[in-house]
Amino acid sequence: MIKNFGKNSISVSVMKKFIRFVLNRLPRRHIQRAAHLVTPLVGVFYAGRGVECPVCGARYRKFMPYGYGEPRANALCPRCLSLERHRLMWLWLTRESDLFASNPRLLHFAPERCFIRLFTQALGDNYVTADLESPLASVKMDIQAIPFGEGEFDVILCNHILEHVADDRLAMSEMHRVMRSGGWGVMLSPVNPAREVTYEDPSITTPAARAAAFGQHDHMRDYGADYPDRLRAAGFTVDAVDYCSTLALDERRRFALRDETLYIVRKS
Ligand SMILES: [Zn+2]
Repeated sequence: MIKNFGKNSISVSVMKKFIRFVLNRLPRRHIQRAAHLVTPLVGVFYAGRGVECPVCGARYRKFMPYGYGEPRANALCPRCLSLERHRLMWLWLTRESDLFASNPRLLHFAPERCFIRLFTQALGDNYVTADLESPLASVKMDIQAIPFGEGEFDVILCNHILEHVADDRLAMSEMHRVMRSGGWGVMLSPVNPAREVTYEDPSITTPAARAAAFGQHDHMRDYGADYPDRLRAAGFTVDAVDYCSTLALDERRRFALRDETLYIVRKS
């Protein structure tokens, strides 16, 4: 039998290698500045109508691959750079939350480019973006020492940050402090389904050792099933929402979603 090494399979493997190289070798701030200029051009090769991005409305044959290890197929929207978790969160925010009806004061850590314009349009000056380094953030801050007063924010979004932070418990209690009573947030982190208890070891410091121990060169821990317990210890109530499973199969395919638990926190 002759294996099919057609044009499509070669371009997929080249694209995966390219994505892996960019994510692992280039400084994150450069990627954040330039990725949105490059991916729409690459999107020409993905022309079609097989998938749809609910965040920006674009349609493609499929999405681009993405990932630090073996890039996963059908993940990244070439137009707005949404990933599966962003599309899932967007659907939850627009369908299940009052984010766009209540004009909340929103604190958004490490703001994802796909959301910034939409949140700015909807919330104006009530929308605050924050990060230690990202050129996309309006306020440079350390999440372990948030320079805002108690209860200043109605909503906090913090996705895939806490696994990068030295003292994640302090970061969680800081977010709890600046959230008002009755406020809520979405705080997503990658959780290893094979772990009951979070694995961390501050003596592991080199990128190679962190990649081996925690799954990515800039992660400081590998969260387990006790991740929401850490949020609870900071004072939040936590709902672990398997939102993807509530959606119809055709939507999960069309929006190219993955099962990823949404951790919805509230402050009483
Ligand atoms: Zn998009």
